[in-house]
Amino acid sequence: MNIPFLDLGAAYKELQSELESAALATMRSGWYILGPEVEAFENDFAAYCNTAYCVGTGNGLDALHLALLALGVGAGDEVIVPSNTYIATWLAVSHCGATPVPVEPDEASYTIDPGLIEAAITPKTKVILPVHLYGQPVDLDPILTVARTHGLKVLEDAAQAHGARYKGNRIGGHGDAVAWSFYPSKNIGALGDAGAVTTNDPEIADHVRVLRNYGSRSKYVNEVRGFNSRLDPLQAAVLRVKLKHLEEWNHRRKIIAQRYDVGLRGTGLVLPWTPDYSDPVWHIYAVLHECRDKLQTALNAAHIQTLIHYPTPPHLQPAYASLKHPPGTFPIAEKIAKRELSLPMGPHLTLDHVDYVITEILRALESITPSACS
Ligand SMILES: *Cc1c(COP(=O)(O)O)cnc(C)c1O
Repeated sequence: MNIPFLDLGAAYKELQSELESAALATMRSGWYILGPEVEAFENDFAAYCNTAYCVGTGNGLDALHLALLALGVGAGDEVIVPSNTYIATWLAVSHCGATPVPVEPDEASYTIDPGLIEAAITPKTKVILPVHLYGQPVDLDPILTVARTHGLKVLEDAAQAHGARYKGNRIGGHGDAVAWSFYPSKNIGALGDAGAVTTNDPEIADHVRVLRNYGSRSKYVNEVRGFNSRLDPLQAAVLRVKLKHLEEWNHRRKIIAQRYDVGLRGTGLVLPWTPDYSDPVWHIYAVLHECRDKLQTALNAAHIQTLIHYPTPPHLQPAYASLKHPPGTFPIAEKIAKRELSLPMGPHLTLDHVDYVITEILRALESITPSACS
């Protein structure tokens, strides 16, 4: 057995003929920047998210960055971010000239703790930027209430949460804007880089649309100092095909998560917790263990690939040394970084393989003494 963390080749094979005819049609169309294929995907994805607007961008980082600019974030402002996230969330804030202000996650859900946000608000705060980490929706209602009370905007980082539901409604239109990534390994991934912003606010949609295309609405008229970050038509064509399969693929992830839940119960691993407001899409099946590194080594020896999301929280990265948050500043984020292990997960992982992973985890844990690691 050889079990990859995620089998992107199998995903391609399942949809090969559909993907290839969509790509071929785009290549033959003669239209290679923006145009009908991009608009068609934007319409499809907006409809899927049940939002009024979708604006495609070059990638997820740009989707976050342009959405923050459209929400009015600029030099000297502060944006509240989770202390445990992929660094893109923080970088988008920094690229606006603003400062990311970290807030610790809830220890059970790993998503930003809404109860800690108010204490982080200052007169400089403009936006709250929660992340639906691992495919698990954050508890949005209390965040939206705090934002309303303080006159702040909410931008959601939904790069890991395509199709996830909060209180029954798909992520995409709860906050003022929602940023998406279609990086190949996401629940719906392009065959390259791609991203988008969804919103119900026509002004925000318009602003992002202008920013992604040189600050221009009509050729050679540049209203603002924009960027070049347009969704590529070939990727849009690929994404239109894949969007039709997203629900089915998310369902397969859910079955795998349930299998892990049952098979790993009572082993000493901390398993994912699903709050009752949430219908997650299992972008990542994250477990915690004091001896994470030993467990990962043992699984590696059994030819099971696991990943860590993420080994170093943003505040301890060299890129953020100047913010001067020394080790120990965000202990929950640091603890998750030390203990988290992402098990193989994806729509093409077979249940036989899941059972093999479970068996090998049980075997490995027999010879690991947690107290020896902490
Ligand atoms: C993948 C990801 C991004 C960035 O997406 P790119 O398309 O790689 O730029 C942002 N935030 C989170 C939480 C992500 O997982």
